[in-house]
Amino acid sequence: MSAILTLEKGMQFDSKKDAENHCIAFSRQEKFSLVITSSRDRSNEDGILVMMCEHHGSYRNTRNTDRSQKNGKKIGSNENDEVKKPRNTSSNKMGCGYRVRFFRGKHKNQWKTTTLVDVHTNHRMATNASVYSVHRKGTEDQNELIMQLIRAGRTDSEIVQIMREIATDHAESEIQADFNPRDISNKRLGFKKVMSEDNDSLRSFINKLEGKSYAVRYDTVNQRISRFFFTHQICIDRTRQMPDVLVMDATYSTNAHGVPFINIVGVSNLGYTSCTLANFAVAGGWLSSESTADYEWFLYRLKDTIFASGSLPGPTLMVTDRAQSLTNAIKTVFPETMTMLCTVHITRNFSTNVKPTFKNSKKYEEIEEVLKKMYYCQTEAEYNAASKEYSMPILSK
Ligand SMILES: [Zn+2]
Repeated sequence: MSAILTLEKGMQFDSKKDAENHCIAFSRQEKFSLVITSSRDRSNEDGILVMMCEHHGSYRNTRNTDRSQKNGKKIGSNENDEVKKPRNTSSNKMGCGYRVRFFRGKHKNQWKTTTLVDVHTNHRMATNASVYSVHRKGTEDQNELIMQLIRAGRTDSEIVQIMREIATDHAESEIQADFNPRDISNKRLGFKKVMSEDNDSLRSFINKLEGKSYAVRYDTVNQRISRFFFTHQICIDRTRQMPDVLVMDATYSTNAHGVPFINIVGVSNLGYTSCTLANFAVAGGWLSSESTADYEWFLYRLKDTIFASGSLPGPTLMVTDRAQSLTNAIKTVFPETMTMLCTVHITRNFSTNVKPTFKNSKKYEEIEEVLKKMYYCQTEAEYNAASKEYSMPILSK
C-alpha cells in the first residue's frame, strides 16, 4: 500500500532537493507534470524554488526572442526571479495557473511552501502520469538495470516489458514505471554516443584537451568510460609550487549522466584582500560513483601527474567534505597527508545532528555563531575562549 502524498501551504522540507522530489512524486500521483521556473539556493541569501504545471505560460505560435516586444505576460517575471526556460516545446503552453513556491530564509535550512495555487486551468488532466516524460526518466537503479539489459543485447520492447514487470512490485509513487520503447532507444543512443571508447565526439574531446596541454587519464568498463581525470600543465606547475592545501569536493547536477563532477583546487600564497588567499585549479574529472575505489583511482592519477616527479610526497593538507570514502582513499594514496573537514560540511553536520536536540532555535543559532569563532580563530587563546563559550549555550538549552 502506498501512502497518499499531499502538498499544502506551510509544509516544510530540509532541502531544496527534498521539496523538489516531493513535488515530483506528488505530481506523478496526481498525473500532471511540474517544471522548475525559478530556483536559487545560496546559503547567505534567501532561497527560492518555484515550480509550475508543465502547461503554464501563454501559447505562442512564433518564436519571439526579443523580450521587450513580447506582449504575452511571462509568469514569474514580476518577481525578479531568475527565470529558467523550461525545456518543453511551446505547444505545451496552455496558460495553466497551477504553481507552488518554496522559500528558505537567509542562513536557514528549512524550505517552506509559501504559495500554492492548486487549480489546473485550460487543460484536461491526463489519465496516466507517464504521458509526461519527466515521469519516465527512471530512478538511478532503474537506469542502471536498463543499461545492463542494453549491454546484454535485449531489444527496446523487451526492456519495456521487463521494467513493467518489476514495477508492479512497487508503489507507484516510489518507482517510475511506464517507459516506452522510444525512451529506451534514447537511453541506448545516449550511452553509445557518450560512453563508448571509440566514439568520435569523446575522442575529439580528449584530442582537444591533449592538444591544449591537458593531461587526460580515463578508465573503461565494458568499453564505457567510467572514470575521467584531467589537469593542465599550468595547474601541475602551480600545484608543485604550492602543494600545501588542496580542497576536494564532488558536485552533482552538472551533466546529463548524473555522475559526480570532482573538483580539486589549491590555495595560493596570494590573495585579493589582506585576509583571504586566492584559489587555483588543480584537477577535475568525473567518476561513476563516490566510492573509495573510485576516489582512490582519482587520487592515484593526481599522484602520477603532479606528485610523481621529484621528491614531493603529496599535499600537506587536504580539505574534504564529510565523505568517509574520500578520507579513506587519501589515507591509502597519500599516507602522509593530513585531512580536515570543510567548515560548510561541519556546519551541515551540526545542523543535521545537533539542531534537532534544541527546542529553542534561537539558542541553536548562538551555537552556530560560536562555531564560526572556533573555525576562524587564529591563536590557541582565541580557540580556547571560543570553546568555553561553546559549552555555555548547550548547558542552557
Ligand atoms: Zn496544469
